[in-house]
Amino acid sequence: MNANATRLSPAQIIDGKATALAIREELKSSSERLTELGQKPGLAVVLVGEDPASQVYVRNKDRAAEAAGFHVETIRLAAETSQAELTAQIHALNENPAIHGILVQLPLPKGGDLNERETVRAISPDKDVDGLHPENVARLVMGEEGFVPCTPAGCIELLDRYGISIEGKHAVVIGRSMLVGKPIAQLLLARNATVSMCHSRTADLAGHCQQADIVIAAVGVAGLVRGDWVKPGAAVLDVGINRGEDGKLCGDVAYDEVLEQAGALTPVPGGVGPMTIAMLLRNTALSAARAAGVEL
Ligand code: NAD
Repeated sequence: MNANATRLSPAQIIDGKATALAIREELKSSSERLTELGQKPGLAVVLVGEDPASQVYVRNKDRAAEAAGFHVETIRLAAETSQAELTAQIHALNENPAIHGILVQLPLPKGGDLNERETVRAISPDKDVDGLHPENVARLVMGEEGFVPCTPAGCIELLDRYGISIEGKHAVVIGRSMLVGKPIAQLLLARNATVSMCHSRTADLAGHCQQADIVIAAVGVAGLVRGDWVKPGAAVLDVGINRGEDGKLCGDVAYDEVLEQAGALTPVPGGVGPMTIAMLLRNTALSAARAAGVEL
């Protein structure tokens, strides 16, 4: 891809759905091998309360883990569960040798004494497959091995699998959340990109984007990134999940416009989204591989 060329043809579509399926197939064989070594990858998913969206997310994670041949435990707790009860449950999972990864579905119900920070800190950093424990955040910043949050890991995996080089490139990340924007910036930096972090207070967001070889939009504003914000040939990853005015799912990127400018682009749905679960499974398999003393 020549980032300086004028675009003559539409962008390559980065197919996250197919890539995620391929990774899940690869993990099936890893899971068989780890099972033979006595470390069948085990994922515990904790769901507190009955939020409908969270129930769907948890069901999808359970199904994907089972399909990859993992051991799955889903722990459903009432919305009235106290922090002490939730912490005790997490501590029990920390001690359970059949469990290699623990995920507490966020957000937690409001109104009681549940606290997300305390909950995430209760998870053993060695089983924190969501990569949200402060220990794993520190390891990421320090360039040490640890668990990387799933959506950011999925973005890097897509760039790699589509042969889009990162080293020496100028990457613009829009959004600075702990879940997406900040870890993506750290991962790009670790791969020797020059990274600009943009956010809601950035002056001249369009101007920054126009300089980028790689744009990652993780904002939550439908159609924010316009066609003329994108340098011809740039790679654009759209993390946003929004409902458009027509009620359909859409990303942070004005898809049809950017398609004409970019060298490569993820659609929504079917781009970054499916990679998140694939990376959750990979993190769990990595944890099981560590327990087995082998490389994944
Ligand atoms: P967030 O609300 O925590 O953070 C949004 C960030 O965008 C903030 O840092 C804010 O400064 C920035 N921002 C807001 N308005 C802006 C503007 N007009 N211009 C520039 N920056 C602006 O959200 P998040 O958790 O990081 O998620 C971002 C988006 O990604 C959401 O749409 C979310 O649904 C989606 N998401 C997708 C996945 C996935 O699997 N694909 C996973 C997590 C989040």
